[in-house]
Amino acid sequence: MTENSTAKSEQLFAEAVKKIPGGVNSPVRAFQHVGGTPRYIVKGKGARIWDVDGNEYVDFCGSWGPMILGHAHPDVLKAAHDAVDKGLSFGACVPDEVEMANLLTTMVPSMESVRLVTSGTEATMTAVRLARAFTNRSKIVKFEGCYHGHSDAFLIAAGSGLLTGGLPASAGITAGVAQDTLVVPFNDLDALKAVFEKNPDTIAAIIAEPVPGNMGVVLPDPGYLENLIELAHAYGALVIFDEVINGFRIGPTSYAELQHLVPDLTTLGKIIGGGLPIGAVGGRKAIMDQLAPMGPVYQAGTLSGNPVALAVGIATLKQLQNPELYVRLTQTTTRIASRINAAFERKGVPGHCASVGALFTIFFTAHPAPLRSLADVKTCDTQRFATFFQKMLAAGFYLPPAQFEAAFLSAAHTESDIENFLTAVENSIG
Ligand code: PLP
Repeated sequence: MTENSTAKSEQLFAEAVKKIPGGVNSPVRAFQHVGGTPRYIVKGKGARIWDVDGNEYVDFCGSWGPMILGHAHPDVLKAAHDAVDKGLSFGACVPDEVEMANLLTTMVPSMESVRLVTSGTEATMTAVRLARAFTNRSKIVKFEGCYHGHSDAFLIAAGSGLLTGGLPASAGITAGVAQDTLVVPFNDLDALKAVFEKNPDTIAAIIAEPVPGNMGVVLPDPGYLENLIELAHAYGALVIFDEVINGFRIGPTSYAELQHLVPDLTTLGKIIGGGLPIGAVGGRKAIMDQLAPMGPVYQAGTLSGNPVALAVGIATLKQLQNPELYVRLTQTTTRIASRINAAFERKGVPGHCASVGALFTIFFTAHPAPLRSLADVKTCDTQRFATFFQKMLAAGFYLPPAQFEAAFLSAAHTESDIENFLTAVENSIG
């Protein structure tokens, strides 16, 4: 390993900014909020990635979620190679889309019927269109700090890149679109009730990440999601759970299924493609049957149900049909959180680590735990996170480069990866 040289990454980034806006193809990849140069990654294996300068990192970003099995898992790569050998795309029906639909509807039974798309953004966009058509209503309710992809209706008080960038909303969204998106704080049932009381007949759906990951990991209060569903249904609105991050990350199913909750529609992405582009929207058959060619709601995609993405996704999901794997992942993040919380206390550094399933976030804040909303999360000291991030990177640990994000654990992280990570965290938090 070249001793922490970043010369080649720096050279590539200098070239990139001339030809690619901001030098990146997704804003969260920029090191804008932590300083320094984004690393150009050339290889991944298991829990490790390597950059173009030869630096090795234990990866806690995992491509922002899909790589729950780690990088280059042999069975997944074999499925990819076998599929590639047969051709890349046909724009026609392929057998694996039936297998994928069977797997998803079996593993997430509230999805009685499912349509495959190419990204999480397309899945949520389609879910909202379906909800509007089904209810014949126009407005949607979303939560501050939740991110549902980059289609217009969701880019108001959104999390992830928008949040770190400090933007209340993206430019380029028309007033017409904005007025149909009602935004409320997460974990605040009274605020949700007030929105329904004010708009009793016009809300088509609530869309929520059941466990928000895009403002960092924020857990729902006990009973909150049950009440949310009950309230929406009392007013004739649908519930869309956006499980693009949550799905298959907390258990071998959706978070809703684990909690015995039944949303009307669910959106998936990330893990179900195992690292290739895919998304899915599914739910009650009566709603899903509104989609063309059965119904009047149009949705289509040249690469939807792409055979290579399907083969990789199916191979990934098959590995995940193993509840023990999730027991281990959850035990590990619980241990990560408790060790980090103890370190914060011991060192007198204000902070808190939240975790669920294979997700965790290290928040640098004096706000008492748990953090329950965007307002709580915004108390974080982002400068302190930036310093921490850089120390961790120098020690060989690649975290998502922003405070308001979840870190992703994979099945490939070993006990010694975790011990070394915890030692590095203890040395870097203050
Ligand atoms: N929904 C959630 C909860 C997400 O976290 C994301 C992306 O991070 C999306 C939707 C959008 O997915 P994609 O980036 O695949 O379009």
